[in-house]
Amino acid sequence: MRKRSNLSLHINSSALLENVRQIRGICGSRVRFCAITKANAYGHGSCEITKLLAQSDIEYFGVFTPDEAFDYAGKVKQKYLALEPVHPDMPGVLLHEAAELGVECTIASLQSAEYAAAMLENTKIPLKVHINIDTGMGRCGIQHEEFPQLLEFVNQQETLKLVGIYTHFPAADEEDLTFTRKQINEFESIISESRGNISNDVILHAANSAAALRLSETRLDMVRCGLGMYGCLSLPEITGIKLKPVMRLTAPIIHIATIKQGQSVSYGRTFTAQRETTIGIVPVGYADGYDLRHSSNAVMKVCGCKAPVIGRVTMSLTVIDLTDIPWASPGASATILDDRPGSPCSAEALAKARGTIVYEVLTSAPADATIIVE
Ligand code: PLP
Repeated sequence: MRKRSNLSLHINSSALLENVRQIRGICGSRVRFCAITKANAYGHGSCEITKLLAQSDIEYFGVFTPDEAFDYAGKVKQKYLALEPVHPDMPGVLLHEAAELGVECTIASLQSAEYAAAMLENTKIPLKVHINIDTGMGRCGIQHEEFPQLLEFVNQQETLKLVGIYTHFPAADEEDLTFTRKQINEFESIISESRGNISNDVILHAANSAAALRLSETRLDMVRCGLGMYGCLSLPEITGIKLKPVMRLTAPIIHIATIKQGQSVSYGRTFTAQRETTIGIVPVGYADGYDLRHSSNAVMKVCGCKAPVIGRVTMSLTVIDLTDIPWASPGASATILDDRPGSPCSAEALAKARGTIVYEVLTSAPADATIIVE
């Protein structure tokens, strides 16, 4: 994709590596680390994040579809796990390529395993698979009572090799951890009921970032971290660990003008100047994921000062109030998404302004921004 010159996504490489180091420090070196790089590495740019982490001591990358792994699998020392369960719409050629490149795939039902086995009938290299058990996510995953039959089927296939079993938590970031504790207990008992049929080198994993940091019993053989690694997990009770956001989005102010008192700004005329107002135009809009339609108090930062967003954000342009920052000139950099925790335009603040979650703010970062690894 051709990159735009007027939007810059700054990646703080030392923050990324330090976040990984800190999470690993808490989990212990025995626990493997799977860096979740699906969804374009949560908007950070999967190529850039993969290259940065490939040099580190992490063991796995977690992507969504198997083909997301194909650019780097076999070229980096890390293994790849595709979280999307194998399904009947997945082309056989994709499964063959995954097997050849050693990309590990998810099996979430008997049909999923049967389909994979059928597609790989004549293959020489078995496809490495992880079984996903649903202990309460209520999404993909085999149910408790169906697990033994699936396990038996997978173990019987020469074309499938079981290398992992996992589950996923829907509420590990909530104050009350009762549900997550219940899930891990259920996972452990499902495993122990079938222990005789599970080889000792099969890795067991469950924890996302929140669980990895908050509940030691969920760390098992590996943790799968996204949000924490990108430094945007704020859990007040986690002390002694300061994760730092990795992403910053900036754009130059492309135009500055003065409007008179009483003049309105942008579509729908939702903002009327109460005084003579200096407006700055920033080339970012809802088409770039900067969706603030339902917010009236968002800000950008210009020359270290708060510049309120005024009027409706349009498709490709946003208007900010520069009246109190008279030294800002065209070309000055506006910070749209700040990497300083507590900043009025941090991912957390933007999520609040947009009425959404930090995950959505990060993953909606414009994919055509120029990525600058710092
Ligand atoms: N594991 C699975 C199966 C996921 O779907 C995700 C994220 O969506 C993660 C791990 C990482 O979660 P987090 O970003 O909260 O660390």
